[in-house]
Amino acid sequence: MALFDRFKRKENSVSPTDADAEPDQAAAQSQDEEGGLLARFGQMLKKSRDLLKTDIRDLFKKEGELVDDEFLDKLFAKLVKTDMGAGPANVIRERVQQDNRGRIVQMDDVLLSVQDSLRQLMAQDAAPITFAASGPTVIMVVGVNGSGKTTSIAKLAYMFIAEGQRVVLGAGDTFRAAAVEQLTVWAHRIGAEIVTGKSGGDPASVAHRAVAQALETQADVCIIDTAGRLQTQVNLMQQLEKIRRVIGKLIPDAPHEVLLVLDATAGQNGISQAKGFSEAAGCTGIVLAKLDGTAKGGVVIPIRQQFQLPVKYIGLGEQADDLVLFDVDRFVKALFTDPESEGRGTTE
Ligand code: GDP
Ligand code: MG
Repeated sequence: MALFDRFKRKENSVSPTDADAEPDQAAAQSQDEEGGLLARFGQMLKKSRDLLKTDIRDLFKKEGELVDDEFLDKLFAKLVKTDMGAGPANVIRERVQQDNRGRIVQMDDVLLSVQDSLRQLMAQDAAPITFAASGPTVIMVVGVNGSGKTTSIAKLAYMFIAEGQRVVLGAGDTFRAAAVEQLTVWAHRIGAEIVTGKSGGDPASVAHRAVAQALETQADVCIIDTAGRLQTQVNLMQQLEKIRRVIGKLIPDAPHEVLLVLDATAGQNGISQAKGFSEAAGCTGIVLAKLDGTAKGGVVIPIRQQFQLPVKYIGLGEQADDLVLFDVDRFVKALFTDPESEGRGTTE
């Protein structure tokens, strides 16, 4: 929860505490917050970091290493293991070569080139949720079964509620009874309202009632869960299209966001699966779930390159507050910063 407050406060910087704080104190606080966030990212990205940093460290002898073809090939092999794909790994290889060729270098020199290259490969502006100009903001969440949709919905709702907003959830995955139950449990836990339908019932009708309730009760946000698999892919796409249509009838510019949830542990495989999905459902952004459980953190790169969509949030665990706004600089820093040795509070 504190994590979201930090984002919010930083972006708006008009909370009473900030306005009253001495400039020095405010700067120290914000530095402290940044340190805390980095540490949090760092802990969650441990598997990817271990792979990147520890494996790259293994390439180095104490006295440094000559950057020749053999070294560059070994570096390439380590990079590919993060599931970033051969193309991007090659871009980084070339960058390291260009910066250091023929020199004897230390690990930190190489890491600088790697980090810079990673930042360029993932480049995007931070992309929080686009809110409706007035009335409820409607967010539809799509993705294959098991990718993390329902959990990500709970996390998003928790974030909005922590910011003082009222949230209505629509349990649109009526295909599986367990999915409705799961969302209901989350709704009670985090204090969101929920609209459900009969198991096997029409998800578009659930979506309709959820958005109608959000409108009537002047809720701030309405989030619609959807099925990840039906009898056929065509059925699924038609169902998503119908949900969109029904929502749009109630609020003409809704859904304001269609978030595609991808499972980071699926690596490159998950990406091709999700591609058809994103085109058919008119997605506006990606939530990359389960980055905590994988060493395949490099998968952000092909995702950024193959989808014309920003990565908006990343999932870093199974708890309600394990969702953070994706920020390229912070992400790259966390991939190389060991929270045990750095990122602790900076104030005395
Ligand atoms: P859905 O079928 O797309 O709705 O997926 P769920 O939300 O039910 O998630 C599938 C499984 O992944 C559940 O066991 C979740 O607890 C787990 N999960 C979801 N997001 C994350 C995450 O960011 N990190 C971890 N470690 N597990 C997650
Ligand atoms: Mg689900």
